[in-house]
Amino acid sequence: MEAQRTISGEVEIRQALDRLDTLGSVMMIAAHPDDENTALLAYFSRGLYLRTAYLSLTRGEGGQNLIGSEQGDELGVIRTQELLSARKIDGAEQFFTRAIDFGFSKTAAETFTKWPREKLLADVVWNIRRFRPDVIVLRFSGTPRDGHGQHQVSAIIGKEAFSAAADPSKFPEQLQWVQPWQAKRLMWNTFAFTAEQQKEEAAIKDKLPVDLGEFSQELGFSYSEIAGMSRSQHRSQGMGAAEPKGSTKNYLVTIAGDRATKNVFEGIDTTWSRVAGGSAIALLIEKARDSFTGRRAETLLPLLVEARTRVAALKDPLAVRKLHEIDETIALLSGLWLDAAADKYAATPGTPVKIAITALARVPMNATLTSVKLTGMDGIPQLDLAPATLVFNEPSRYSLTVLVPQTEPPSQPYWLVEPKDGALYAVRDPRLIGDPENAPVLEAHFRVRIAGAEIEITRPVEHRYIDHIYGEQLRPLAIVPPVGVTIPEQALVFASAAPRRIDVFVKANIANASGDVYLDAPSGWHIEPATRHFDLASVDEQTTASFTMSPPSSDASGELRAVATVGGRKITSSTEVIEYPHIPAQTLFPASQAKLVRAPIVTLSKNIGYIVGAGDEVPSALRQIGCEVTFLSADDLVRADLSKYDAIVTGVRAFNTRPDLRANYQRLWDYAQNGGTVVVQYNVLEGGPFGGNPTLLDHIGPYPIKVSRDRVTDEDAPVTFPNPQNPVLHIPNEITPHDFEGWVQERGLYFANEWDPKYESVLETHDPGEQPMPGGMLYTKYGKGVYIFSAYSWFRELPAGIPGAFRIFANMLSASKAQ
Ligand SMILES: [Zn+2]
Repeated sequence: MEAQRTISGEVEIRQALDRLDTLGSVMMIAAHPDDENTALLAYFSRGLYLRTAYLSLTRGEGGQNLIGSEQGDELGVIRTQELLSARKIDGAEQFFTRAIDFGFSKTAAETFTKWPREKLLADVVWNIRRFRPDVIVLRFSGTPRDGHGQHQVSAIIGKEAFSAAADPSKFPEQLQWVQPWQAKRLMWNTFAFTAEQQKEEAAIKDKLPVDLGEFSQELGFSYSEIAGMSRSQHRSQGMGAAEPKGSTKNYLVTIAGDRATKNVFEGIDTTWSRVAGGSAIALLIEKARDSFTGRRAETLLPLLVEARTRVAALKDPLAVRKLHEIDETIALLSGLWLDAAADKYAATPGTPVKIAITALARVPMNATLTSVKLTGMDGIPQLDLAPATLVFNEPSRYSLTVLVPQTEPPSQPYWLVEPKDGALYAVRDPRLIGDPENAPVLEAHFRVRIAGAEIEITRPVEHRYIDHIYGEQLRPLAIVPPVGVTIPEQALVFASAAPRRIDVFVKANIANASGDVYLDAPSGWHIEPATRHFDLASVDEQTTASFTMSPPSSDASGELRAVATVGGRKITSSTEVIEYPHIPAQTLFPASQAKLVRAPIVTLSKNIGYIVGAGDEVPSALRQIGCEVTFLSADDLVRADLSKYDAIVTGVRAFNTRPDLRANYQRLWDYAQNGGTVVVQYNVLEGGPFGGNPTLLDHIGPYPIKVSRDRVTDEDAPVTFPNPQNPVLHIPNEITPHDFEGWVQERGLYFANEWDPKYESVLETHDPGEQPMPGGMLYTKYGKGVYIFSAYSWFRELPAGIPGAFRIFANMLSASKAQ
């Protein structure tokens, strides 16, 4: 929503002319949003005018969201847009593979058990063949020094792809669309966070220094400053970054190809002379560039138009791309404003969208609009336009109504349309792989005759509106079904055979939406009534359809689907709009389904006080097993009567995020002393090279506990019981190894590695090949009550409906009653 209109006018024209004169390209490869060296991207793109790309293997969906509750697919959509916002600032392009960020992994081998190596390599090769970079820069080394296994894999695969992309016997199915491509050089952009790594870096021979703190007079910033602005777009990761001034040395090392000793593009022709027939073009563009005084840019048009004619005659793929750049530069010099705005941001199949088309020449010159063509849907009408002279600074306006075809699919991001293929997205059209986002629903192609040339400019059809706080805004046009149906829980857990009310939300995307909604469950699950009718008068109106559900009498699991029928059309998805100020609004359509679980779960504690930290879905999971959950405020921590709670639970990272909790920890120990149960979930150990305050966790338990960065990332790692008599393993639910089956993503993180002998370890687990880690769950009696530290990932397992996780959590809540 926040408009970024900083680099414009004279600077934009200078950058466009310099870019027209440069034919080199570079691609950086790493694993996640935020791995990229943004300053280096800005230096390549805005300093050296190269075509620059960042290929991130993943969309970062496995991380933590620091700005909202979106996780998984939704978080991947947010991070994709954050990267695109960052790229608008540093000037690079953004690509991806099909790989899904499945969370932290310690080794490359562990990562390769999730990501099929050949498919990942194919995607990186495809991106290279499509982009054709002269130089490829790896962010990581491909060794354990990189930390995260996914980081290591990005470099291992990057090295393989450097030669595989040039080998026609590799992935020949891609050759119907692209040619093999051999980049000239593969480099590693070294990094050193620790003193040890700094020593290693200093010892590397033949490394090429680049000063990213170099100040650009043209831009008024150094590349490090631009990087700070760009990096600060990663808001969901809390990546607000400094804009450092002064020299910032970086190093690049040649790994394959000709060794560079002076500069990154040494021995690589990045001028027009690399294209046959290019030298004459270079002369014209250089002349245009050199004669630009900052005013009356339109006087350069004859030179660019002549260059355009010559470029259009060339067959070289580089020239084809340059033709598009020349057209945009001509439009820029001419102050051309070409716009196609939809009267709404969401449209349903079978309904009209009115499109306002505007063409305006804001510089006095001879310009004629010859045609406007809309693409993106089948059978749409076209503007019947006689060539029209554009009058200086007087907008020419046209309008057109498009009826969205009944067959038009909802605008789900292309990588979320098909069910996932393990830890890869399934993409039906292989040509889409790598694209950061869907092509716009509708595009307008303007043809304008200027100074003897006919240029083509393409603009997306978007909704343009005025926000009273943020000003003029744009929102992408989305195709949506008439209603969205939502089951609010990811999993519905039945702790007993008692029937329960299930609420389904139906929300209108059109006015006067009427229909029925029903639930589709496996046999044995009884639902009443069979259908519910709804009538929704206006857009965005929502109603709740309630059903009563009786689970089978014995253990069972299955899938529940909610289905709405509107005018003979079945809708099986929710309509979710993600809106944040730093990214364009995103619309997606998660399936309206929930996991069903019937499992025996008993809890002796019903009345739970919850101290929310960074935010998690544990409270709503506890309500499913019959708990009453009350959120404790800062005021409650100071003076409320805590003795009414059967147990008090601290949410994830509560000691990190709640100064009121850190100030009032003694009240929790007093509460335990008097017979209560305190459960502390995981907290992050801060400090070290990335900053933060390591003292936040000084009073995390009544006796000393030292939290470490130890984590167990294998969700199937065996779990054992170091003290088999501990009541948490027996009361009221008897815990067995079976309760650790089916877990998701990991076992836990930020385990303790030192603790007072008054604590007893309840569970032990560790990743394959590592030392035992008994510090994930610590138990102690305290006065008449019990304190439990538990860094297992309950915040993932409970919302996912893992029955064993519920049974163990219920035992923790029941601990003081179980003595
Ligand atoms: Zn990373």
